[in-house]
Amino acid sequence: MAKLLAIVEVDEAQKVQCQEPGCGHGVYKRIHVVDDGGKIMVMGSTCFEKRFGTAPNLQPEYSGNGAGRPLTDEQRQLLLQNTAQLIVLFDEEAKANRARLLESLERNRKAIAERQAVFEARSAVLRQLRAAEVPSPRSVPIMPWKWVKPMSSMAYFHWPDAQGWIRVMHATGGQVVMPWPASDGWDEALPPVVGSPDLELGGYRVNDIGPCISYLRKHAQWERIGIWRDIMEALAKHGKRLIT
Ligand SMILES: [Zn+2]
Repeated sequence: MAKLLAIVEVDEAQKVQCQEPGCGHGVYKRIHVVDDGGKIMVMGSTCFEKRFGTAPNLQPEYSGNGAGRPLTDEQRQLLLQNTAQLIVLFDEEAKANRARLLESLERNRKAIAERQAVFEARSAVLRQLRAAEVPSPRSVPIMPWKWVKPMSSMAYFHWPDAQGWIRVMHATGGQVVMPWPASDGWDEALPPVVGSPDLELGGYRVNDIGPCISYLRKHAQWERIGIWRDIMEALAKHGKRLIT
């Protein structure tokens, strides 16, 4: 059973002899190296085809599309003197090429896995940041009172039945206690110790801040001192706690 081992090529000036019995032609392109029942021989393509026909399924994988592989001078010496050794070298080379290919595939696979891991870690951080975000500015109601002294601190007192009171500073001086949320009958809800109803403002003008705060605090379930946003966020947080 014959086996095609390789197709090689040498310089035209360094032709080798076809070993097909009765031929002996010098050949240099598409030299076929054949294992003919254990005897390795070198043949021109014409003699090969005459004897074996075209046999692309016998092509060794390293000879590519069947074009002759150019040999170095050393390899040509081997072709003439020790063809079997040349084939061993080719096999080893093919094995090394396969190993390099596998290694490079493995490197690519690792690099992709590493990039994927980095991407996932970053996504996880983004998810955590998003989850930890404070409520967006839109979720905080806008303070409806234009007359409040800018940047002044306020105090919120949360009364039962979700009625709240906010102590604010008026821009023209003096303290005001406003209902939050605004409610009907606010002007009759608090005693004179807190202050006097100012219907135009919609809240109580405070006469004496000490007793006013003591009274609001005495009835409060909780209180929050800060700027408008602090108070609104505290309300949102308490509201969430009640719902859940
Ligand atoms: Zn020949």
